[in-house]
Amino acid sequence: MCCTKRWKKNKAKLARQHGQAYINSKGISIPAKVAPVSATLCGGKCRLKCSDISQKDRTSLHSAFYDLDESGKNVYLFGCIHAYTPKCSSNTSGRNRSWSFAYNVLIDGCRQRVCRRALCNLHSISASKIRHLNAQVAAGHPTAPPILRGNMKTGQTKWKKN
Ligand SMILES: [Zn+2]
Repeated sequence: MCCTKRWKKNKAKLARQHGQAYINSKGISIPAKVAPVSATLCGGKCRLKCSDISQKDRTSLHSAFYDLDESGKNVYLFGCIHAYTPKCSSNTSGRNRSWSFAYNVLIDGCRQRVCRRALCNLHSISASKIRHLNAQVAAGHPTAPPILRGNMKTGQTKWKKN
């Protein structure tokens, strides 16, 4: 009994990790994550032209991402984010409130800049995940923070309050 339960939980965890369909602990079925091949990646007005990324590249980015485990995904996303302070606001000294973020994905060995919306869509992730990672990058963390999995109740609420 106990073993079956644990096995089910692990199976769901693995499926979620790899973007496959699964049934969560509340019995709700979660659909598989699919690459945004036909969708627009971001608004038509985006000057970065993210939607020019080919279907093939979208699919390979998406599947490579879901081959990673949770900590691998965080490390990968961390590497996509570049924080900088806009030059024009350097007069307002001291406060590091004005971080800007640039996002890059690797396509055919070349870094291509994309907007945040496209980054979310390309990897089927939420904007809040990016915000969370941005905070880590801006705080000067050298690499992605350890996963707080298994610690969801205490760990995650703590982060969210920030
Ligand atoms: Zn865009």
